[in-house]
Amino acid sequence: MRFDVLTIFPRIFESPLDETILRRAIDSGLIEVAVHDLRAWATDRHRTVDDYPFGGGAGMVMKPEPLFAAIEAIQPLAAPRATVVLMSPQGRRLDHDLVGELAATERLLLVCGRYEGVDERVREHLVDIEVSVGDFVVSGGELPALLVIDAVARRVPGVLGGETSLDEESFEGGLLEYPQYTRPADFRGWTVPDVLLSGHHAEIEKWRRAQRIARTRALRPDLLAAADLTAAERRALEGG
Ligand code: SAH
Repeated sequence: MRFDVLTIFPRIFESPLDETILRRAIDSGLIEVAVHDLRAWATDRHRTVDDYPFGGGAGMVMKPEPLFAAIEAIQPLAAPRATVVLMSPQGRRLDHDLVGELAATERLLLVCGRYEGVDERVREHLVDIEVSVGDFVVSGGELPALLVIDAVARRVPGVLGGETSLDEESFEGGLLEYPQYTRPADFRGWTVPDVLLSGHHAEIEKWRRAQRIARTRALRPDLLAAADLTAAERRALEGG
């Protein structure tokens, strides 16, 4: 899977892409990330990428010309054509399903806004999808783009190593993950549930499944309607 990123702050991407899971995914060729400095496509001496808003008002707006020129130059650098994703607080909210949809593509081009955002014609004529990381505003699209890269890369086969680690992760099947414990079995008098120490795999599986459902009901009841539950599980939930 290939990610192209368009930003005026390329260095923000250096350290997150240089550590641990993403670093290994890049080194092993499972993902490729090309970060492009938008200023390379600015044409004036000062490499201007922003300008005053028509109609007045606070702040600056990212000009259309460098963004169009950049994307038209970046698209032919690889195949297939990338889905162009604008990071925007007004976009579709990123969640497990959207991460899955993005991971099903072969190539994403993530456009990072700054200032007050981008000229409307970029949204209308250049962008395939707008993605928000939540109902709040951050200063630029770089951290949101890194969230997309990280979340999508984890879904690329091989990136997490043990493929099974994905199956029971939070939001898979619409449920949260079960509680996790490690040693010591007794910490300050708080003990680990007996079943986990029993070595009885079927019982452990049963307990974990029940915990996933109970936790989801306690912490994120909004997820339950769409969760993959058996008829019996759903009956139990409604009864209790
Ligand atoms: N004035 C805009 C916000 C601009 S914030 C508005 O009110 O809608 C500057 C840039 O940060 C945006 O162009 C976008 O790329 C990025 N950004 C801010 N919040 C974001 C969010 N929740 N999700 C994704 N990108 C975001």
